[in-house]
Amino acid sequence: MFEKLYNLLSIDIGIDLGTANTLVYITGHGIVINEPSVVAINQKTGQVVAVGNDAFKMVGRTPGHVVAVRPLVDGVISNFEATEEMLAYFLRKASEIGGRKLLGPRVVVGIPSGITNVERRAVRDAARNAGAREAHLIEEPMAGAIGTRLPINEPVGSMVVDIGGGTTDIAVISLSGIVESKNLKVAGDTFNEDIASYIREEFKIMIGEKTAEQVKITIGTAAEPDEPMEMTVRGRDLVTGLPREITVTDADIREAISNSLGVVVEAVKEVLETTPPEVIADVMSRGVILFGGGALLGELPELLEEELKVPIYIAEDPLTCVARGAGFVLENFEDYQQVLLESEDELSPAT
Ligand code: ADP
Ligand code: MG
Repeated sequence: MFEKLYNLLSIDIGIDLGTANTLVYITGHGIVINEPSVVAINQKTGQVVAVGNDAFKMVGRTPGHVVAVRPLVDGVISNFEATEEMLAYFLRKASEIGGRKLLGPRVVVGIPSGITNVERRAVRDAARNAGAREAHLIEEPMAGAIGTRLPINEPVGSMVVDIGGGTTDIAVISLSGIVESKNLKVAGDTFNEDIASYIREEFKIMIGEKTAEQVKITIGTAAEPDEPMEMTVRGRDLVTGLPREITVTDADIREAISNSLGVVVEAVKEVLETTPPEVIADVMSRGVILFGGGALLGELPELLEEELKVPIYIAEDPLTCVARGAGFVLENFEDYQQVLLESEDELSPAT
């Protein structure tokens, strides 16, 4: 009865503010928005020209004075204003989908775990300025763990690795808290850069960021696959300046990304090494759960199992775990408040 009344008055919105993609979940609707975290800005006027899908189309194709930026690249807010505009845009769009209500929405925003208090405050303020009645924050690895329905409220250790675009988050969770964690700036984007520079060095051709990502998604693997793969790639010959086509193999790409992958593996090892023994026992029997787009890299579980000697599982629908987790928190708000970050009033003074 109360719930029905509440639904008439307000909506609940969960947001995964990712470095590469922003997803929005409305309770009762599910995921309603899934767009790149990109903002196009007119540098002459400072105005935001486009956000999300529309802005993404402009990446690498903008006229001189329009720049397409990813405001959260590297998991830190590199551009506060753009982040605020982006969040406001997605909240407006979600409110339209959810329907006009008397009260502003209750919002839970998933944020990269490495961001500072100042940045957290900016996200919270942006949500409020965009009309949120309540704005709560949750760390993305926690939200993702909830999205995959790990028993995070119980005295059982769960380990997750979230490989996004700009950051990799590794976290061990027990009793609604993060017991041990690490946040790296090595993630999906790094692999793309590695691939582009490898191809430049080895084949003397230049390829764009989007092409590099396509190569990674198509033939990228962390360990040797059952069947070899290859792919034709077009770029600009560094010597002649003209377009040229080459064939790259899965082995090329493994070589290109091996250093960065090694950094991720080492970081997961370090977290395992500093985790209390009881919790380690849980992780050994329950495995490590991977999510984020980077979890889809071919043969990644095989590599990690080999290196870490613990079972590795990919979460179902790894790109949506965080948004679904934020939605689940809203749907079970009374039972999950303890996973939300403290409000700014309780935070220590900004550093
Ligand atoms: P974020 O949470 O930082 O927004 P996402 O979880 O949305 O990031 O993941 C985006 C990253 O996942 C990008 O670097 C993208 O290239 C990568 N990715 C997506 N699909 C695949 C795939 N099939 N194989 C490897 N990487 C992938
Ligand atoms: Mg993410």
